Amino acid sequence: MVDHEKVKEAVRLLLEGIGEDTGREGLLETPERIAKMYEEIYGGMDEDAGEHLSKVFSVDNSEMVLEKDIVFYSTCEHHLMPFYGKAHVAYIPNGKVVGLSKLARTVEVYARRPQIQERMTGQIADAIMQHLKPQGAMVVLEAEHMCMTMRGVKKPGSKTVSVAARGVFQDNAALQTQFYHMLHD
Ligand code: ZN
Repeated sequence: MVDHEKVKEAVRLLLEGIGEDTGREGLLETPERIAKMYEEIYGGMDEDAGEHLSKVFSVDNSEMVLEKDIVFYSTCEHHLMPFYGKAHVAYIPNGKVVGLSKLARTVEVYARRPQIQERMTGQIADAIMQHLKPQGAMVVLEAEHMCMTMRGVKKPGSKTVSVAARGVFQDNAALQTQFYHMLHD
């Protein structure tokens, strides 16, 4: 849970630290606005992916399931700046599948907290492995990081791509190729 008083005090100090006048009209409500906003954008810290991935359905087939272009917004923990983009989540069932919206929910659980993209990618794949016990899972995230593009370190629009492969995806080039074919169809 967000401690509103602490966040408000911190935002006031932050504004003072950059030389702002926290008493001017436009900034008066800013600490409270940010505290409220943090309830939502850091809401994933109070959530467990298991809540979303525990409701499974039995199936006979074991063909790859891919949910692609799941839009997400997260916060870089090094700069507290947004990074955002798309998640592509695939798994090969082992008798059990989960509702497709639950994969998007799982992405949100890990996006809505201070993050680094590489860890988030692995956490999504690990949650699917843990709760669905599939033959394998593969997750690709492509995101633009404001801490990079806003400071001109990189060109705007440039993307960081991260991959996590688990289970049968780990050392099976044919499966990975199938994943990328489905992704770009
Ligand atoms: Zn950053």
